[in-house]
Amino acid sequence: MKKLVVITGASSGFGAEIAKIFNADGYPMLLLGRRIEKLNALAADFDHAMAEAVDVTDYDQFEAAVRKAEAVYGPTELLINNAGVMLLGNVQNQDPREWQTMLDTNVMGVLNGTQIVLNEMREHEHGTILNVSSLAGKKTFVNHAAYVASKYGVHGLSETIREENAGKNVRVMLIAPGAAETELLTHVTSESALTDYNAWKESMGGLTLDPKHVAETVKFMFDMPQNVNIREVDIAATRQD
Ligand code: NDP
Repeated sequence: MKKLVVITGASSGFGAEIAKIFNADGYPMLLLGRRIEKLNALAADFDHAMAEAVDVTDYDQFEAAVRKAEAVYGPTELLINNAGVMLLGNVQNQDPREWQTMLDTNVMGVLNGTQIVLNEMREHEHGTILNVSSLAGKKTFVNHAAYVASKYGVHGLSETIREENAGKNVRVMLIAPGAAETELLTHVTSESALTDYNAWKESMGGLTLDPKHVAETVKFMFDMPQNVNIREVDIAATRQD
């Protein structure tokens, strides 16, 4: 059997599409997220999958789930740090708790997952960590200050971790998608920021990226031989500015 793929934020959007592609190729999977009913529904259609309710900001919970899956499927071959939140708002009046949620989930969640799988990957001199960042990790957008801060953080930590582990043959990859139709916007509390975002999308013809194309790209990156590390891919709808 193929080796274990761990996906955070597998309950919707990119994570669910990525999970389907790896399942179709015969990988056993650990599906993580907070909404266990969604994860269970996805896992029910898969051949070898474990679903665990995990908040990626909770290191102990995250680690326990990974160890449980590794006890069944063996060491983690690939960790996809995909879980994330984008709470749009203007710094002038946004609730600071929303900044904290983004930094905790988008940055601490990635660091947590990385440390949880890294030692074993280094020991075996084999393994891949793939982080889902955003074009907002390399370009600014109004009403995105804390999100941009978190995703610039993901870009920075990914390249640092890649440098730290290249000598141990561990790959660290990053994908930076543009706007796509997922559940990401459903958590935004600022009506005006949401209106601005939708107007921006409409100005591009209303076209956004299909999550399936992000999932296919992730699979392509991973499928390169272990001695090839696609460090970063930027992917967006052609009409995105
Ligand atoms: P979704 O909202 O559909 O998916 C986000 C996923 O993250 C959900 O499965 C959610 O699961 C999970 N999640 C959120 N917080 C936590 C947490 N604390 N612990 C565990 N899981 C959590 O959005 P996307 O699929 O779009 O987002 C996936 C990634 O893609 C994010 O990192 C996002 O920043 C990035 N991205 C998205 C873009 C877009 O336009 N959609 C563009 C560029 C990047 P649950 O609620 O069950 O915990």
